[in-house]
This record gives sequence, C-alpha cells and structure tokens, in this order.
Amino acid sequence: MKKIIVAGAGHGGLAAAVVLARQGYDVTVLEAKKRAGMGHDWHDVMNRGTLTELLSGSPAEDPVFPHTNTGFVSPSKKTELAEPYRRSETAGYVDRKVLLRLLINEAEQAGAQLRFGVPAVSAACDCEKVTGVRVYERGRIREYAGDLVIDSAGIDSPVRRTLPGSFGVKNEISPKETFFTWRGYFENTTGAVTEPEIRVFFYHNGRPGMDWVNTKADYADVLVGGFAPIDQTDVDRALEDFRADYPFMGKQIRGGSFVKIPLRRTLPMLVANGYAAVGDCAAMTGPLSGSGIDLSMQAGKILAETVITAGEAPLAVQTLWSYQYKYYQAFGNNQLSYDILKGILRSLTAQDVDFLMDAKILTLKEISSAEIRKYNAREFVEKLNILKKPRIVPGLARALSHLSQIDAVCAKMPETYDEKKIAAWAKAYEAL
Ligand SMILES: Cc1cc2nc3c(=O)[nH]c(=O)nc-3n(C[C@H](O)[C@H](O)[C@H](O)COP(=O)(O)OP(=O)(O)OC[C@H]3O[C@@H](n4cnc5c(N)ncnc54)[C@H](O)[C@@H]3O)c2cc1C
Repeated sequence: MKKIIVAGAGHGGLAAAVVLARQGYDVTVLEAKKRAGMGHDWHDVMNRGTLTELLSGSPAEDPVFPHTNTGFVSPSKKTELAEPYRRSETAGYVDRKVLLRLLINEAEQAGAQLRFGVPAVSAACDCEKVTGVRVYERGRIREYAGDLVIDSAGIDSPVRRTLPGSFGVKNEISPKETFFTWRGYFENTTGAVTEPEIRVFFYHNGRPGMDWVNTKADYADVLVGGFAPIDQTDVDRALEDFRADYPFMGKQIRGGSFVKIPLRRTLPMLVANGYAAVGDCAAMTGPLSGSGIDLSMQAGKILAETVITAGEAPLAVQTLWSYQYKYYQAFGNNQLSYDILKGILRSLTAQDVDFLMDAKILTLKEISSAEIRKYNAREFVEKLNILKKPRIVPGLARALSHLSQIDAVCAKMPETYDEKKIAAWAKAYEAL
C-alpha cells in the first residue's frame, strides 16, 4: 500500500487521513503542536454533515450548536443593519478543540499514525517530484518519505513555501491576501445578551478590517480583525471601545491569540508530482467570510477518493489534477465572486463605508446575500450613479465586468491534465 505523509494536522489533512487509513493506506500525520494544544480556543461555524459523514459513530453529545443572526455596524456606528433571525438546522458552532479531538481520534482509530511536536521544516524533493517532508524531531532534522505528501500545515506551510518554483505551486500567500485576527472570550458579568447577538463592526476605530462582539449568557466573544497586520495596541484599543459599549465584559477567560486567515480565491495550482495542498495552505476559505473548515474537510475527502481511484498508479501531477478539478467544480469556482467583491470592499475607506451604509446603498442585500453572483451589482452601480459618488464607481464597474466573466474563465479549466491549457486557465483565473 502507498505511504502517505500528512504535513500538519489541519482539518483537510485529517479528513484525508481518516478516509485513506480506513482503506489500509500507511498514513503518518506530522503535527508541530503538542496534542493538548490542538484546535483554536473558541467556537466557529461549520456544517454538521461535513463532520458526521466522516465519523464512524455518533459523538455522545452533538458537537454543533445553533448560531444566531448578525448585525452589521457602520464605522461611525450611526447605521446598524440586522439580519432577520434564520436558524439553520445544518450549520452551527463547534468548539474547535472538540472538533480537532474528534478528527484526531477518528484518524487514529482508522489506523493513521499521528506524531505531535514534530514541525515540518521543508519539502524533500528530487528534480521531478516531492519525495517527502523534512521535520525537526528530537533535536535533529529527519526526513519522512512517502508516495504522497498532503500539505495541511496551514497558511504558512513550510512545505508549500519550499517547493521548487518549477513545480508551479504558489509559494507565498501575501499579506494583502490575508486577514489578521485576534480572538478572545470574556466573562459576561451580568448574563446580558444583545439583540442581535453578533455585531460585526466595519472599520472599527477607523482601522481597515472587521471586528465583532458575540454575546452569550456566559461569555462575550470578541474578534479583532485587520486587512493589514494588527498588534496588541490595536487589540487594546478595540477592547477599550467595546468595554464602553458592552459594560458587562469582565476578565478574559479563553483564547487570546493572533491567527491569520487566507482571504483569497483558492490557489491556482494545488498539486505537483507527489504533492497535494489542502485547507488554508491552499487558500480554501471563503474570501469574504474566512470560513474554511467545511471546505478543507471536503477537499480532504475528494483528495482521498482521488488517491484511492488511482490504485497502483503513481501519484503524479496528472493523476492528482483530478482532485484539483473536482474540488474546483464543487467548491473552488464558487469562491471567485466573493473574492472579487472582497477586492472592492478592501479598496474602500471608513468614510466610504459610512457613506454607503448611511445612504442605504450598502444594505443587507449586498452584505449578507449568499447569492452575490446573481446579485444586484448592476443595481448597486446604478444606485451609486444616482448618488454621484464617482470615485467608487469605476472599481465597482470593473468588479461587475469581472463577475460577468467568471463562467467563461471557469469553463477554461481543463478536466484532464494539460500543462498549456492549465497555464492559460490559471492566468485568466488570477487576472479576474
Ligand atoms: C478567528 C478565526 C475565526 C474563524 N472562523 C471560522 C468559521 O466560523 N468557520 C470556518 O469554517 N472557518 C473559520 N475560520 C477559518 C478556519 O480556522 C480555517 O480555514 C480552517 O481551520 C482550515 O484550516 P486548516 O485546517 O487547513 O489549517 P489550520 O487550522 O491552520 O491547521 C494547520 C495545522 O498545521 C499545523 N502546522 C503548522 N505549521 C506546521 C509545521 N511546520 N509542521 C507541522 N504542522 C504544522 C498547525 O499546528 C495546525 O494544526 C476562522 C479562523 C480564525 C482565525
């Protein structure tokens, strides 16, 4: 059976490890952190089905609990738009530590070997293919060789970053393609819950980005997020302002770490000979929402199925391309419109956002609609024309033009591996 090395116990890598180990593949997962440190110290939203499909049994307690509606607050706080309450039966919050524990247990039960405290330092390659991963283990560098390296080591994966340029995989995810976050939970000293429970603050304190406060009876969940790197001073300023608005915020009880999220369309090349990237490493997040749990796990499952279908054939780029193609058809292509819209949002100033929200140009229709591609971008540009805000219009018109080209660009992606056609598609894809 083929030997599979998973670099980083990310969600996609673990999903692939579960499926492949169940089929008898020799799977080793190399994770930098200690077992006890796995998973973010907070709750995030995911689809219950993505998890339960992967588990062999039902967890004693449903790990996914409902999430609530959101309000969007303008930079000056003059305008707030609140979504109507929509309870989802399928999506909800999951404790990230519980999620990781479930995935790790499942992978180990399936027969995968997990090694913790073993950071990958680089890809091991010959001229033509990735042959394994170099790690730092017990005070020395050692190499784990395999037929396939699944790169699930997150946004800054040293494996992806050290791939030779000739393999065609983008090494870096730039700061402009990144959302910089800090997240912490605070005691709720009175049990007060706001309506809506979650408030997203655009350009909070004038800083380009988005913060939120999510109130629960026993805690307040605070995110500070920037389109550029943030530091403790930004966090302290945001907290000071939130403490004035939410006087029941007590001492910090969970979280408190800075974490980056890739905020761009999926990388144009996910595979090379003996190599496949999944999850944040491949920018598999919603470019507006930053959500990547479901996408990573779905990618891991598709990748595992591709490996199983390949049978005895070598895991060359031609074979692995099928994983990339299927992922894009199912999920990757859908992210393009969000990425185009994100580009527009990032180009606005706090004053622009105030103007757009106060004048009811940016409404819930634009902010919370799940159907941006079919959405009223033309109507939006017309609204702007009426209100004569010419500086913003060209960017929106360009975005509208790019949105209209999405289907044609996606159709260019070849189903089977063809270097020239892939290069042409990737160029058009990145240019949108
Ligand atoms: C504040 C915040 C809120 C979010 N909210 C949501 C949400 O509501 N819904 C949602 O779907 N997503 C959300 N996300 C995004 C989500 O966390 C990621 O998209 C998701 O975790 C998938 O990423 P991943 O598993 O590929 O990478 P990661 O979660 O980064 O996992 C990578 C793993 O690789 C390990 N690793 C890193 N470097 C090395 C190395 N050198 N060697 C070995 N191992 C290494 C890490 O320790 C980690 O275990 C949020 C992220 C943040 C930061």
